[in-house]
Amino acid sequence: MMTTSVDDRVDSLLSKLGSRITGPRRRVARLLASKQGSFSAEALNEELPDVGRATVYRTLKLLSDAGVLCKTTLPDGSPRYSIDHSWHHHHLICSSCRTVEEFRHSALERLLCEMSAEIPGQVLGHRVELYVTCMHCL
Ligand SMILES: [Zn+2]
Ligand SMILES: [Zn+2]
Ligand SMILES: [Zn+2]
Repeated sequence: MMTTSVDDRVDSLLSKLGSRITGPRRRVARLLASKQGSFSAEALNEELPDVGRATVYRTLKLLSDAGVLCKTTLPDGSPRYSIDHSWHHHHLICSSCRTVEEFRHSALERLLCEMSAEIPGQVLGHRVELYVTCMHCL
């Protein structure tokens, strides 16, 4: 049962890439589909010793560009990836354990929408990342 759902998720991850789905890319996607929370490219690379480093990084980039993965930045500037579960959201990033969580807040969206009326030019989008100490780390 578990295997089926992971396979389904792998297929839906890869279907968004459209183009060529190679064996190594499938291996990367399979590992991603089993992940909870956030992860670094280095950690994935270590878990897939027989898949080339370039393939791991390239697949992460393709999946980020396709909107399958969220790429966030830790306080020290290093990138962190997580599965994108929903359409529009922001991130809570724990600076201790590096967990990345999604959050939404309607008041924030309203405020940004009102602000954009006063900003010269056209606002195309926004990103909001909050650095926190998570409940677990407190
Ligand atoms: Zn996200
Ligand atoms: Zn934490
Ligand atoms: Zn927003």
